[in-house]
Amino acid sequence: MSRKRILVTGGAGFIGSHLCEKLLTYGYDVICLDNLFTGSKDNIRHLMNNNYFEFIRQDVLEDIYIECDQIYNLACPASPIHYQYDPIKTTKASFIGALHTLGLAKRCHARILQASTSEVYGDPEVHPQPESYRGCVNPIGPRSCYDEGKRVAETLFFDYHRQHKVNIKVIRIFNTYGPRMRPDDGRVVSNFIVQALKNQDITIYGDGTQTRSFCYVSDLVDGMIKMMESEKDFTGPVNLGNPGEFTMLELANLVIKLTGSKSKITYMPLPQDDPTQRKPVIELAKNKLNWEPKIKLEDDLKSTIKYFDDMLRDGQL
Ligand code: NAD
Ligand code: UDP
Repeated sequence: MSRKRILVTGGAGFIGSHLCEKLLTYGYDVICLDNLFTGSKDNIRHLMNNNYFEFIRQDVLEDIYIECDQIYNLACPASPIHYQYDPIKTTKASFIGALHTLGLAKRCHARILQASTSEVYGDPEVHPQPESYRGCVNPIGPRSCYDEGKRVAETLFFDYHRQHKVNIKVIRIFNTYGPRMRPDDGRVVSNFIVQALKNQDITIYGDGTQTRSFCYVSDLVDGMIKMMESEKDFTGPVNLGNPGEFTMLELANLVIKLTGSKSKITYMPLPQDDPTQRKPVIELAKNKLNWEPKIKLEDDLKSTIKYFDDMLRDGQL
């Protein structure tokens, strides 16, 4: 029997590289397509010698001509600094990237999974957030290119499903952390760890009472694969995240404790439209996918700290 061929767009990024690595352990043939905007060859260097791994440097805004059985669509900058760098391109990557990968799925009769986001809930008035909540998103703010781009991608997925019977899977990913996050991408976990390791001030935006729920990357990747392999009729959207909820002040103190840092906390203005609270309801994932995260933030923040500490020692920070 021939190996299943899997396309991962955005496969050289933080989550994508862990996904490619895991798919290879299952014996799949993996094609990673990435324009390296925020991803890096360093993230996939250890996979390059594997005969069943292929890297294509390409933008999802261009037509994709390959044959495959499954598609994971992750190509899109994910940190606020990067998605706000060229907001028009961010919306295009979400919308046109979804259009191109859905067109490919239609032609190849491939199953396709969209990496959507908790950002589709915006600054939620419902807490915690179930999949049935329709969100509270500003359509014209600085975060809209990402939030609305991801929302319209979901729309396109469901229209391809209804109109062309494409076999779709939509996951809504909540804040995820782990090794291979970029030290300069401005996301809170990498920022706090790098600041703590350098004994610099820890920058809390606002008063630090806003909350997030952090999922370790290996837990997320397991959920993504379970979703892809789930029964055909289950399209999602399904939340994938860790329901453990932390204020940013709690996170800062945890990072200071685990690193033994001398850093002090400093307060900076809260960015516009920064969500005040976020926590997933994961009953659907539990029931349909038999999935829930195994790793607690307190336990595995250590491996992420070690990753950045090694970078610091190598002079990469
Ligand atoms: P990342 O920035 O590390 O990965 C994104 C990858 O997509 C990068 O390798 C980048 O080079 C590539 N890319 C961007 N634009 C592209 C384009 N036009 N054509 C081809 N490749 C392109 O971010 P990540 O955290 O790994 O996120 C991966 C996916 O998961 C994204 O779609 C993101 O929206 C989603 N997501 C992530 C989180 C999180 O907490 N990390 C939360 C919710 C959703
Ligand atoms: N944040 C912070 N200090 C930082 C970076 C981020 O206090 O140095 C806050 C940010 O304002 C937000 C939360 O941490 O409330 C999570 O930010 P991140 O960019 O990681 O993710 P997102 O806002 O997209 O969930």
